[in-house]
Amino acid sequence: MPTYHYRCKNCDYDFTEHQSFDDAPITVCPKCGQEQVRKVFSAVPIEFKGHGFYRTDGASHSSK
Ligand SMILES: [Zn+2]
Repeated sequence: MPTYHYRCKNCDYDFTEHQSFDDAPITVCPKCGQEQVRKVFSAVPIEFKGHGFYRTDGASHSSK
């Protein structure tokens, strides 16, 4: 099921919804209740560029 990204123009609330292609797009903000929600079309690549992921204390070697 695709995940759609929405943003409320009223309160800037960002959220994603799992919807099928047949589902009606969400228009009402679940946070503020205003009908200001717009679908965000942005291909958001999942980035793992290692910011702050380097913990090289080497104390625990928990290999599976
Ligand atoms: Zn809102």
